[in-house]
Amino acid sequence: MKISVKELMSLDERFMRLAFEQARMAVTAGNEPFGAVLVKADEVMAVGQNKINTENDPTYHAETGLIRDYCHQTGVTDLSDYTMYTSCEPCVMCAGCMIWAKLGRMVYGISVKQLFSLLKEGTSDVFSQEDDRGISMPCSEIFARSSNKISVIGGVLEAEGIELYQSYISPSEE
Ligand SMILES: [Zn+2]
Repeated sequence: MKISVKELMSLDERFMRLAFEQARMAVTAGNEPFGAVLVKADEVMAVGQNKINTENDPTYHAETGLIRDYCHQTGVTDLSDYTMYTSCEPCVMCAGCMIWAKLGRMVYGISVKQLFSLLKEGTSDVFSQEDDRGISMPCSEIFARSSNKISVIGGVLEAEGIELYQSYISPSEE
């Protein structure tokens, strides 16, 4: 049976909610609000969350950490049949990691651009606002330069995503 666009959309939303849940769990654990879910044939294969503080690993972003752990545990190094859901559009490191892992499809909640504009208006210093380590570049630009053309869908459950990041970045506005 062919899956309709509407059904695909609701699946994307379902998995995005799991990614948001991982992002909230990351905050509870003392990390930053980023979560990821790896799906194959509409089945969740693995979940991941940001662990930069608890692992003392500045590269332990949700997406890179998930890919590293999943591939290491399963022996799978080709993710072309997989979709990754991320609460926020991946950074340049994670987008690069997705290319190396041959990821097939990527779905994100809020864009890097939106995250940066929330940070600019932010009332707390959860991420240092003077911090220029983050590079505001759409992942599609990075994927476009690779031979692995990862298909990208952005803005899934965008309003919920914005709310999640807003409450972390500007808690007083709650
Ligand atoms: Zn990243």
